Amino acid sequence: MRIVVVGGGVVGVTTAYELNRRGHQVTVLERHEVAGNETSKGNAAQRSYGAVYPWADPGMVFKAVPWLLKQDGPLKMRMPPSVEAIRFLFATLRYAWSPGLFGLNRRAMLRLAMHSRERFLALEKELDLAFDGDHRGLLHLASTPEALAGYRNVHTLLNELGIPSRLLTPEQVREAEPGMVGPGPLYGALSYDNDGTGDCHLFSQALAKACEAKGVRFRYRVEAENLVGDDHNVEAIAITTAGGERELVHADAFVISAGCWSDHLIRPLGLALPLYPVKGYSITVPLSDPDRAPVSTVHDDNYKVVSTRLGNRLRATGFVELADFNRDIPEARLATIRKSVTSRFPGCAELEAAETWTGFRPMTPDGPAIIGRGPRDNLFLNTGHGTFGWTLSAGSADVIAQLVDGEPPAVCLDAFRPGRFSE
Ligand SMILES: Cc1cc2nc3c(=O)[nH]c(=O)nc-3n(C[C@H](O)[C@H](O)[C@H](O)COP(=O)(O)OP(=O)(O)OC[C@H]3O[C@@H](n4cnc5c(N)ncnc54)[C@H](O)[C@@H]3O)c2cc1C
Repeated sequence: MRIVVVGGGVVGVTTAYELNRRGHQVTVLERHEVAGNETSKGNAAQRSYGAVYPWADPGMVFKAVPWLLKQDGPLKMRMPPSVEAIRFLFATLRYAWSPGLFGLNRRAMLRLAMHSRERFLALEKELDLAFDGDHRGLLHLASTPEALAGYRNVHTLLNELGIPSRLLTPEQVREAEPGMVGPGPLYGALSYDNDGTGDCHLFSQALAKACEAKGVRFRYRVEAENLVGDDHNVEAIAITTAGGERELVHADAFVISAGCWSDHLIRPLGLALPLYPVKGYSITVPLSDPDRAPVSTVHDDNYKVVSTRLGNRLRATGFVELADFNRDIPEARLATIRKSVTSRFPGCAELEAAETWTGFRPMTPDGPAIIGRGPRDNLFLNTGHGTFGWTLSAGSADVIAQLVDGEPPAVCLDAFRPGRFSE
């Protein structure tokens, strides 16, 4: 089949890879000049298969207000909030207070994440991609006794699902992360032993190149405008090229992986995707003393900042901010990220000299991504991956390719169904 994938982020590129592997003739449409240049660019670099959870978390609802009020708090909101932000928050509350939903969605996301891990391992075996990738586990630090108690429940759930994890004492944490000599409070940690890391931007670009070598066509600097067809099928997608020409790209099937920008393509066909761009920030800097840097990836629950080792670089990431598509990078956010790194890994890098970045998580109000058939027979959606698109990309690409080929998906997709927001 001829298949068009809209979006050259990590989700679109992995989707193109899986479709090509199945023998399809694939074209990717991307408005940037290279792959992985939006949300997939500067994320926290975790492939956190054991640590995925839905956005609409009932436990977070009561923490949200203190977090908003605290100067260094991880949650920020532009004042006054936009209508879109308010609508998104109300929808989030509705899902957070739906009895049992968080647990069901968490299990569904964990199953997809485990599948994603398998697909990543297979892909990395098949293709020799350079993206500073590793599988050395992930640590969630507990800076209070209450945080450690919370991790005990997560540990029990992971045991139940057969996902390896360990509760560590502070001594064991320092053994695992010898560079962690900073004064930040530490009561222990939960270690997600199967988890990994990797530069999502480098991965997206390397995989796009590998796909091109296998015959996938990447059309960069084109804007996908609207889908064209009848009530049953999409026949083509209208695009505008860099030169301003309008063109129709015909295909037998279409996959929308346009991240935060997916809704405007689908809504005219009668299905609204209530995605909101949840902003975050990162810094990336070469290591000046690798022995004082994280070995893998460390989540500091004190500031909710993630520090990740990427080869000879450090990536540190934080904040959940509702500010629509505002791309400003306030110094105060960077200062908090630097403070967290210094409190754990002092002297590992020249943090003031770091490259800075902001991006938007394509978040659904409940949390699971949107994966499945769209409002036309030959239209498929693989989008809305929120906080975990890098982690889930390889798995969701595989299951969407299975759906395109009319096969049952390897993982139950009920929690990810596109129509759930209007049910
Ligand atoms: C601060 C931060 C930290 C994060 N940390 C992690 C992490 O540690 N682990 C993890 O798993 N995830 C993490 N994420 C989330 C992860 O980065 C995203 O879920 C993932 O990158 C989404 O990929 P995507 O391909 O769906 O979207 P994108 O990367 O945004 O790609 C969508 C692409 O579609 C293109 N596009 C959109 N509309 C059109 C159009 N009309 N025409 C042409 N092109 C179009 C865009 O240009 C873009 O390149 C983080 C996100 C943020 C912001």
